[in-house]
Amino acid sequence: MRIARYRFEQDVAYGIVDGEQIREIAGTPFPEVAGIEVTGVEHHIDEVDLLAPVLPTKIIAVAKNYADHAREMGGEVPAEPMIFLKPSTAVIGPESVIRLPEQSRQVEHEAELAVVIGRLCKDVPEHRVPEVILGYTCANDVTARDLQAVDGQWGRAKGFDTFCPLGPWIATDIDPDDLAIECEVNEQIRQDGNTADMVRSIPELVAWISSVMTLVPGDVILTGTPAGVGPLRNGDTVTVTIEGIGTLDNIVSDTGVFA
Ligand code: MG
Repeated sequence: MRIARYRFEQDVAYGIVDGEQIREIAGTPFPEVAGIEVTGVEHHIDEVDLLAPVLPTKIIAVAKNYADHAREMGGEVPAEPMIFLKPSTAVIGPESVIRLPEQSRQVEHEAELAVVIGRLCKDVPEHRVPEVILGYTCANDVTARDLQAVDGQWGRAKGFDTFCPLGPWIATDIDPDDLAIECEVNEQIRQDGNTADMVRSIPELVAWISSVMTLVPGDVILTGTPAGVGPLRNGDTVTVTIEGIGTLDNIVSDTGVFA
């Protein structure tokens, strides 16, 4: 099943993507809240604007979870998972604009598989992690690389508005362990990896993160990026594609929101 969030005229809703049709869901796709029921309202996918498929309370991102990316950053895979938070206000949806902040001269893409949490949970054992996952989507962990190096802390470098594109929808019922993951900039391939090369598996990551903090429905975990990260410039189109999920397109602009 593919679950999208979309705007149709004045209304925002979740829906199940079924070929070219979107079937509206009553309420949300999180079972503890409502269970998934369709309303009977349908739209052609071209009639709606796809939005970020989820509005997380928090985004937990895992650093250096592909050995080839850890190497290109000049480091090693950490002994324990290394995590950081991106603010919920960084989230944007498909075809939305990534804004290049004036404070940075080096903004880079990081294609990542995103896990969408489906249930309130804490201290989840690895073998029960599948029970707390709603599904998976594409993410771009946009990073101001120069500020990351200067600050030491990553709150600013990872936290600008628009620095967390998600979409195009949440794919449920897929096996995330062996999926091709690609990033293109202006149709040139920059990252060409596979989730099989993650250092720590999704059950390991979710179990470990949930030993630290409570996860709530809609929370998003970014599982790290393969090698090939590189710059984004004004006017670029950046595309993250993950096998079995779909393609997330965004455009890059140096024009401020209020300009
Ligand atoms: Mg990352």
